[in-house]
Amino acid sequence: MIPTTASGTAPAASAFVPADLDAARWENLAPLYQALLDRKVDGVDGLRRLLLDRSELDSAASETQTNLYINMTCHTDDEQIKAAYLDFVERVEPKLKEAGFELDRKIVGSPHADGLDRRRHEVLLRDLQADVAIFRQENIPLQTEETKLDQQYEETCGAMTVDFRGEERTLPQMARFLEETDRATREEAWRGIWERRYRDHERLSEIFDRLVGLRAQVARNSGFASFRDYMFKRKHRFDYAPADCEAFHRAAEEVCVPVLRRLNARRREALGVDSLRPWDLAVDSKGRPPLRPFDGAEELIEKTSRLFHRMEPSLGTMFDSLRGGDCLDLDSRKGKAPGGYQAHRDRSRKPFIFMNAAGLHRDLETMVHEAGHAFHSILCNDEPLLHYRHAPLEFAEVASMSMELLSFPYLGEFYDEAQVARAKRERLEDLSALLPWVATIDAFQHWIYTHPEHSRDERTAHWLELDERFGAAVSWDGLEHYRQMSWQRQGHLFGVPFYYIEYGIAQLGALQLWLGFKADRARAIENYRRALRLGGSRPLPELFEAAELTFDFGPDTVKRLMDDVQRELDTLPL
Ligand SMILES: [Zn+2]
Repeated sequence: MIPTTASGTAPAASAFVPADLDAARWENLAPLYQALLDRKVDGVDGLRRLLLDRSELDSAASETQTNLYINMTCHTDDEQIKAAYLDFVERVEPKLKEAGFELDRKIVGSPHADGLDRRRHEVLLRDLQADVAIFRQENIPLQTEETKLDQQYEETCGAMTVDFRGEERTLPQMARFLEETDRATREEAWRGIWERRYRDHERLSEIFDRLVGLRAQVARNSGFASFRDYMFKRKHRFDYAPADCEAFHRAAEEVCVPVLRRLNARRREALGVDSLRPWDLAVDSKGRPPLRPFDGAEELIEKTSRLFHRMEPSLGTMFDSLRGGDCLDLDSRKGKAPGGYQAHRDRSRKPFIFMNAAGLHRDLETMVHEAGHAFHSILCNDEPLLHYRHAPLEFAEVASMSMELLSFPYLGEFYDEAQVARAKRERLEDLSALLPWVATIDAFQHWIYTHPEHSRDERTAHWLELDERFGAAVSWDGLEHYRQMSWQRQGHLFGVPFYYIEYGIAQLGALQLWLGFKADRARAIENYRRALRLGGSRPLPELFEAAELTFDFGPDTVKRLMDDVQRELDTLPL
């Protein structure tokens, strides 16, 4: 099969990396990495060639890992496939890290680095310098240990099931009962879920304690006072600091939480209950049945294609390029991992979208969200440097989240008029819960890693404080023991520390893009395409600027945007 990009052109082949390289085996990769390390670079052209050859080799390794991961998530019940993935993680990935570090050091230490075009290479060199500065050989086994602990977390949560109404059900499967209009059913389901989680809370706390300890050690090894400061450098957060995150927390508290509490009060009245309980949050407060936008993946693809063609023909064409190839696996079925994601095959330059569609409105949102990530991948396909083919997450999520909002005018492909208004209202009202939740998780991590010696009781106390500050106005009467451990359901805390504020930053970017789109659709789409095409080649503020967005997440920006959201909500029926 000849890999082609969406525009129909094959990516430039690298003579350095054999087309049929089996990158699943380190013994095949090792001589190529060694050749790059041994190569004598005697001029700036030689350094440029090294960058390109390294990029192609990294792409081959990355695509192999991506394919192994895709295969595993599509067949979680196949032991051989799981073993092949784990084999790569345990035997190839650590070697790649070491070789990667040596190459980073060779590149930033090269006397010819100064001769490279400054604007073109500044982000690359800045990132590699940071990576070299924090790299420590002794951290590699600690990081493998971290990955293994996260696997234990995933495994523990993945094994959680509830016997409900005569059937054994996974927790994701239980979620639909929380949307039931019968309150007793919701309560029974909610208690089932949380009792099951509670049974493992000690075990999960132990895993978390060990992760915090390991992470503090990693930071110390790299010469940082805290894991927070280490992570700001490792995540290449050059354009904002912890103080900016704290400003976002204040914005969520001052602007969004009052709206959230008002909506909760309205919900309580609409449901006709004395006090709102945690099982009252997911049901439609008017008692309408859940939205059912499509039946089966084929219908989802067909309708989404029409939606994007109406939004802008080139987006429709990009979406259609995903059809027919092995780029989509959408339907939920036994043996598939939960959730949804978009992954890019870096060498063949082909996106892949994975999800568990079951005909819910959430699935439709996931579809247009992941399509936004795929557009990003496709628009960066001609970029020769792998490092620039991926944008930082703070902007990558603008590409996807904005598609959820920009699709509003075309939801008629799935719904009648009243249903469209309902879907828009739900999405916009959710913002007043989403941003405070982002603030909660982010603030919790800042506290955890700047207080690495904390006891479990102190951790619980701090969590409750944050939930009081940012949470919904619900009564936890008699449920306090569940509330205390409710942070454990957020997997990011275990697997990808400090990854969460990105959703808040990106959501604000997506909102700005949507407001621009309402004023001038063609211009907003042009801005979107222009900024996405930059990939990760420019600093974060410039990526936002290229889309005519402000890179800011303080109280003034949040207030201005939430006021605009409120104005839109005022035009929609209650
Ligand atoms: Zn996303």
